[in-house]
Amino acid sequence: MKYIFISGGVISGIGKGIATASISLLLKKAGLKVTPIKMDPYLNIDAGTMNPIIHGEVFVLDDGTETDQDLGHYERFLNESLDKTNIATQGAIYNSVLQRERNLEYDGECVDVVTYITNEILSRIQEAGRGKNADVVLIEIGGTAGEYQNVLFLEANRLLKLKKPNDVLHVHITYLPIPPSLGEMKSKPAQMSVRDLNSVGIQPDIILARSSQSLDQMRIKKLAISTGLEPEDIISAPDVSNVYEVPLKYEAGNLTKRILKKLKLRQPKKDMIEWRQYVKRVEEAKDEVKIGIVGKYFASGHFTLSDAYISVIEAIKHASYNQDLKPVISWVDSEKVLQNPTMLKEYQGIIVPGGFGSRGVEGKIKAIAYARENNIPYLGLCYGMQLATIEFARNVLGWEDANTTEIDPETKHPVIHIMNDQQKKLLEHNYGGTMRLGAWDCVLAAKTLSRELYGKSKISERHRHRYEFNNAFKNQLVRAGLVLAGTSPDGKLVEVIELPNHPFFVATQFHPELKSRPLAPHPMFVGFVKAARQTTL
Ligand code: GLN
Repeated sequence: MKYIFISGGVISGIGKGIATASISLLLKKAGLKVTPIKMDPYLNIDAGTMNPIIHGEVFVLDDGTETDQDLGHYERFLNESLDKTNIATQGAIYNSVLQRERNLEYDGECVDVVTYITNEILSRIQEAGRGKNADVVLIEIGGTAGEYQNVLFLEANRLLKLKKPNDVLHVHITYLPIPPSLGEMKSKPAQMSVRDLNSVGIQPDIILARSSQSLDQMRIKKLAISTGLEPEDIISAPDVSNVYEVPLKYEAGNLTKRILKKLKLRQPKKDMIEWRQYVKRVEEAKDEVKIGIVGKYFASGHFTLSDAYISVIEAIKHASYNQDLKPVISWVDSEKVLQNPTMLKEYQGIIVPGGFGSRGVEGKIKAIAYARENNIPYLGLCYGMQLATIEFARNVLGWEDANTTEIDPETKHPVIHIMNDQQKKLLEHNYGGTMRLGAWDCVLAAKTLSRELYGKSKISERHRHRYEFNNAFKNQLVRAGLVLAGTSPDGKLVEVIELPNHPFFVATQFHPELKSRPLAPHPMFVGFVKAARQTTL
């Protein structure tokens, strides 16, 4: 087994996740079995307890692990589903060691951080590789070189390299700014981040040089001399408008060849044809389709917003580009919709994505009513399904106080409610990793749009929520025209609702966006975008 550690330098947010996903893809296409792992420095056991405004979306795996958006990148690039061995936070690592210490499993030893924590890191890397039968394990180290938080991961890297000098590689992603006042690309910060790595005993083998532009020969030479690398091992990674171009840029710099040579692996068998075709479709798509996402995570501007809904955005893009359409995605503040719902007339399709709590909910319900009444395609995701049920109960059945007990525990019409097992967890303050999580089977009813879109009746989709459709109101809602298009195999949990006599009104208790990939767009999104395209503004 070979190991590639990937670190970042100078600034956070330079795309280590995309880089790890891209290198994984290139090695997979070269005929190797790969598995990427994200090693995060924070002490949260998983990403499920972190605020999406600060940390971005919580990405859920089939096995219910709550991870961050990097696992989403890995799955989308590799077109593979990953599991809990593909993520380890420092919190989870410490937790395992501390539990063993309490169980006297260390035989009275002094449990030092270096040796015990680093061994736990290494054994998780081995376990992930063995479980996937991997030729290459890629380890993305969260954080930035030179900070205190991730030194144990780097120390584990150093120890493994000592043990297996020919099997361990380090790729460092660094940043070369072009200050507008100078108009010149500066390499000093990148030199310093390599020096930071050197100070903890790591010499990178390859540098991915991020910048707004490609590096010129002069800069490459300068970096090569100061870092002790061959110029061929410094690969330009300029900004791109479409992240799926990144592996193609790396290929242009011969990255796969360099990695394989250093790890003494066989020569590449390249098969990037489908990938290239997808990237081309993205570049060439011209016919626009206008989609509005009605949400509330707007607090810190566009960057965080797109991070909080990244899989939804990706899923819209995959569905659009695979139909040669160019999506124009807008953020619609649900509080503004409440004041002026007609602002939604600009969109050919409306999405209400997942969410929690009461802020912005009335505006989202208004948006759903607008989509229903004005025949605008609507796709509801998780909360978007629960709120669509509430909207229907209020405005079609006339139950004015209909609500979810998440917001109004006293309502006479709790069309969305919490089940006993979940209630118990909340009362015990047992929040971490306790929602209905991960992949659940769902059966789609005959003659429904959902069934037609999937082309099969049995599906499996990922969940992350506590509240559910309340079966006590099922008959009345169905009689009034709500179609229960999907349920759990035992029929007890409602998973998909639809409205007939509408161009597209589908809402899911699960999160289809988590399983959409560029080369395998999700059928729900494909159907939604298709319907949106047919909506004339
Ligand atoms: N807040 C809702 C629940 O907990 C929906 C969650 C979501 O949209 N992911 O059930």
